[in-house]
Amino acid sequence: MNCLLCERTCPDSLSMISLLTGHLPAEKLVCQSCQSGFQRIGSVCCPDCGRDQRGSVKTLCSDCKRWQKMGLRPLSHRALFRYNEPMKKYMSRYKFLGDYRLRLLFQQAMRERVIKRMKAEKLDYVIAIPISSERLAQRGFNQVAPFIPIQVPSCRPLRLKKQPKRDQSSKSRKERMESSQPFELEPDALKVVKGKRLLIIDDVYTTGRTLHHASALLLEAGAVHVVSQSLAR
Ligand SMILES: [Zn+2]
Ligand SMILES: [Zn+2]
Repeated sequence: MNCLLCERTCPDSLSMISLLTGHLPAEKLVCQSCQSGFQRIGSVCCPDCGRDQRGSVKTLCSDCKRWQKMGLRPLSHRALFRYNEPMKKYMSRYKFLGDYRLRLLFQQAMRERVIKRMKAEKLDYVIAIPISSERLAQRGFNQVAPFIPIQVPSCRPLRLKKQPKRDQSSKSRKERMESSQPFELEPDALKVVKGKRLLIIDDVYTTGRTLHHASALLLEAGAVHVVSQSLAR
């Protein structure tokens, strides 16, 4: 089988059966060279957004200082990997080309992290950041859903407001920071999230705007604590 990212032939070839059943080690999906491009974010990171930091002091980054000034509650966001070139390439294949097999590459690492945080931070529900119904129809899956462990309680209190708008990734950073609330509550959301501690999952943390909007709406709906996790930052 070829590496799912660079398409070079992998030394360990896989059967189609193992690929279809999903019983295969993630490291066999991509070649060594592609794997070595992913960089884990260590424990030294911005306490609010999880941005990788050099040195040994955990300080609030400039973006988070700005969020704080705007009066937004900290997300205690954490990401597993840096959003570097190899990760961007992965995302474009997984999300934009819709190669569903690629979920397996980080599924286990993300699920383990989610389970660990649920326990350590005494969280009640996991929420996958919603994608538009158009995007869902086009891609066929919500790219975040496979990262949620089957055994943890999850809920879907949010949905995207219906509005004709450009693709998030084609907007400039400034436009994203300034864009207004993209989410609205599902009809039963208040009942579900009231008094609850929530973990929102996204694929990539870019400016933090999307997650801050989701968090603000959930807190407004009665959630008592909202934190977030992404694959990359
Ligand atoms: Zn490769
Ligand atoms: Zn930060």
